[in-house]
Amino acid sequence: MKPTERMEKIVSLCKRRGFIFQSSEIYGGINGFWDYGPLGAELKRNVKELWWKSMTKMREDIVGLDASIIMHPAIWKASGHCDTFADPMVDCLLTKKRLRADQIEPQSGVAYFWSGAKDEASGKELCEPFSALLAPGKPAESARKVATQFYSQRGLQNVALLGERTEKVENSTSYNPENGALLTEPRMFNLMFKSHAGPVESEENAVYLRPETAQAIFVQFKNVLETSRQKVPFGIAQIGKAFRNEINPRNYTFRSREFEQMELEFFIKPDEVVEKQCGSVASLPENGAPTDPPQANWGWEVWHGYWVEQRMRWYESIGLTRDTLEQYWQKKEELAHYARATVDILYKFPFGTQELEGIAARGNFDLTQHQTHSGKSMEYFDQEATAKYIPHVIEPSAGVDRLLLALICNAYAEEEVTDEKGKAEVRTVMRFHPRVAPIKVGIFPLLKNKPVLVEKAIAVRDLLRPFMNVFYDDAGAIGRRYRRQDEAGTPFGVTIDFDTIGENGPELEGTVTLRHRDSMKQERVKISDLLSILLPQVQ
Ligand code: ATP
Repeated sequence: MKPTERMEKIVSLCKRRGFIFQSSEIYGGINGFWDYGPLGAELKRNVKELWWKSMTKMREDIVGLDASIIMHPAIWKASGHCDTFADPMVDCLLTKKRLRADQIEPQSGVAYFWSGAKDEASGKELCEPFSALLAPGKPAESARKVATQFYSQRGLQNVALLGERTEKVENSTSYNPENGALLTEPRMFNLMFKSHAGPVESEENAVYLRPETAQAIFVQFKNVLETSRQKVPFGIAQIGKAFRNEINPRNYTFRSREFEQMELEFFIKPDEVVEKQCGSVASLPENGAPTDPPQANWGWEVWHGYWVEQRMRWYESIGLTRDTLEQYWQKKEELAHYARATVDILYKFPFGTQELEGIAARGNFDLTQHQTHSGKSMEYFDQEATAKYIPHVIEPSAGVDRLLLALICNAYAEEEVTDEKGKAEVRTVMRFHPRVAPIKVGIFPLLKNKPVLVEKAIAVRDLLRPFMNVFYDDAGAIGRRYRRQDEAGTPFGVTIDFDTIGENGPELEGTVTLRHRDSMKQERVKISDLLSILLPQVQ
């Protein structure tokens, strides 16, 4: 299957089965915004809960925070977002489409230039230069057609192009790859959504919807430190909405304007303090990443390597195997000025290998900035080291929506199977890891018009329901019901049949058929064993 075809099928399944809907669909939708339907909402909750659990509940050294979306605007001045959180943008001179300058594929070909054009009917001349790129193998007329459209839009009727000349160009990013028309020069465009707090729409009342959740963690660093009784090294984790007025929302939910982030700021001692305390600073092991338990002699480099490995393991634990992921270690010249190292964890989406999470070693840039701008000390007194310092930080920052899309793409499978009558058919199955699957178990009474079966099925549903998300379905043939749950990604199916109620011998009474989604294997298990079989797999 071609990647574009695969993506189309995934998008269609997401809509059909209620994973993802276009926001405001009945009004024609709104670009860059998405809604999660019943299955998507469950999937999202599971992902966030698993991240939260692995970060806070399973660790002694990380605590949580849930901060407001709108914060004091000075925060964005201090963080650099007001001045530098901008993308270079260009507009197509023909279609007015806005594109990100740094995402334009370089193109080669022959560039056509015109000094202007003349309206042959009225004799009116327009001295506005224009240019279009002719891709190799295309007739010159197609470039002239683009130019004619450009001048027609400016009021000329029978367009005669003037002053034509050509030039060979290599790897140019000055032309729109879709139509060859010239683009404007790049201009910076701030990605923060602006609003006003209170009734007056003045600059003094300007506020921003946070473009990342991280800054709240830095500004609450002292409060959390004082109330949680943590000592450096320790972390603060937060999950929440972030907003970016992206120029080109694209690739389905991959780049949206409203999304959720799961961010950890893990505060560590500066290397000088570690050295003073331990005599030396450990270096990154050559073969293999550092793992638990963390050691007192770890400096930023080892902590950074540790978090990269922790995050890779977490992705594996929810079904993204290492071969579906890639690590991209940013080169020195690509790093933000304050960053010492940044690793992006990428997933191989059908539309390309793209970032899921960034893990940055940010020095003490953020806390220092907030100390300077707020005038409040961000220093920490380290009793063990008898030293005062501004902690450094390692920041694993992941996007919930991108991860959901990766999980959906990863889960989607089509396979040929033969039904009970020996007929070949295509089975669409979402192979979600049971931990993230929106529904864990489908419960099916074999026949809906047999009260004894229905009664028993409801009892099984009520037995499992407090512990996991179950779905009760009594409509249609059992094979059809299995298929519906395959498409929803439900890993287990429990069928209550005549064996269950003892009609085929007392030895089978109280047993059900447990069907496994991926292998489609069925086994007979006791109702009393169901919970202990299923619970460890879905938690
Ligand atoms: P990109 O280069 O793709 O714009 P970024 O490097 O700016 O992303 P960060 O600022 O590091 O992203 O944000 C951390 C994480 O937040 C990203 O790895 C991604 O998962 C998520 N994220 C960022 N922007 C978006 C967006 N527009 N839509 C969905 N998720 C996003």
